[in-house]
Amino acid sequence: MDWNKINKQALLMLQEYLKINTSNPPGNEILATDFFEYHLKINQIEFQTFTTANKRKILYAKIKGNNSKKGLMLCSHSDVVPVEKDKWSIEPFGGKIRNNKIYGRGAIDMKSCTIMQFIAFLLLKKNNQVLNRDVIFCLVPDEEIGSMYGMSWLIKNKPELLNIEYSLNEGGYGFSDIEINNKPIFGIANNEKEICQLKITTFGETGHGSQPNFNNAPLKLTNALAKIHKWHNSNYQHVFSGNKQFFNAEENKKINDVELIAMNQITINITQLHTGNKHNVIPSKAEAILDCRLPGTINREGFITMIKKLLNNPEILVESISTDEKNMKINCEWDTELIKIIQSTINKKFPESKIFPLTSAYATDNRFLRNIGINAYGFIPSLFSAEERNGFHNHDEYITIDNFYLGCEMTYSIISQLCIKIAN
Ligand SMILES: [Zn+2]
Repeated sequence: MDWNKINKQALLMLQEYLKINTSNPPGNEILATDFFEYHLKINQIEFQTFTTANKRKILYAKIKGNNSKKGLMLCSHSDVVPVEKDKWSIEPFGGKIRNNKIYGRGAIDMKSCTIMQFIAFLLLKKNNQVLNRDVIFCLVPDEEIGSMYGMSWLIKNKPELLNIEYSLNEGGYGFSDIEINNKPIFGIANNEKEICQLKITTFGETGHGSQPNFNNAPLKLTNALAKIHKWHNSNYQHVFSGNKQFFNAEENKKINDVELIAMNQITINITQLHTGNKHNVIPSKAEAILDCRLPGTINREGFITMIKKLLNNPEILVESISTDEKNMKINCEWDTELIKIIQSTINKKFPESKIFPLTSAYATDNRFLRNIGINAYGFIPSLFSAEERNGFHNHDEYITIDNFYLGCEMTYSIISQLCIKIAN
């Protein structure tokens, strides 16, 4: 295969895709589905679309296999988070290249991955080999605001389209700056932390700001928050504690990435405070919102019980305001054919690199699929630097051209080994 030529076509396609503004809100992801529909039509690939809201669509394309195995879905989200344009040094919707880096909102989260998947999908069609399973290309909107009009909609309304064994999406990647035995490490996500948003409310006596008050709701709240953060800060380990099967104690110390260090631990952040509306009126109520992320070792109920015990005051209200997704199964199997193929594909390019199961610190659409029994893995097959990883939801988001080309080749290699009867 002429990867030189394929990669160049892929790069042009990515540049075009990055020019499409699918900032969510409002999304307007129909612009993204139009783009892919055009290419699917040219390549004579069947597809369906589902309108889930105004100007928002799911795209579902399939190349049929011989059904000897259950399907593989290449899945990604078409929306991006909004930009603060004045903080960018380059047009965020320009698809511009500077110093061998492709810039744009979505360059890393996750439009480049979508193109890697789409190019592999088109190649499968073009090569016209017998597939042992259906291969699906699925593009969903609304991932950045909870997936109600995207993956969550698809699961509720079209479950028959998800009778598949595997899905590949975002969530993990290689870390170029973290080396064990002088080799970069690769994390494949088969789990993610659970979101638990807590509301803490304290009550007190209202009155005039000039009068002494020993039952002050905001003060009670700040005391409670200080207690919670003291607990968090004294329990938080600043060293990675990996799975013993994958890393020894010495190796753990080398893994200094903030996100990886957090992956097996509870994190708590105060994100909102609400109280009072006038400088001389003591409010009777104060509220704080905490964004807490829980590793698989603790569930939401257990965490809330622990916080209540810590505060040890029945007058302080502790509530979960994470609406849906209670008790979802958010992990999936590790010992599978697809993981073995991903491992061998990585090790062909990066001999002796360590590959490990990663727990995503943030939520991805994989959780919905894992919950219905699909082995949904998060893996962009690239080797990102700390700066590149920092691009998620940040200004001047980019992917290097080398990483993009690596991702295109590895994605096709992984998919073809899993789905073409005779592995190449
Ligand atoms: Zn994303």
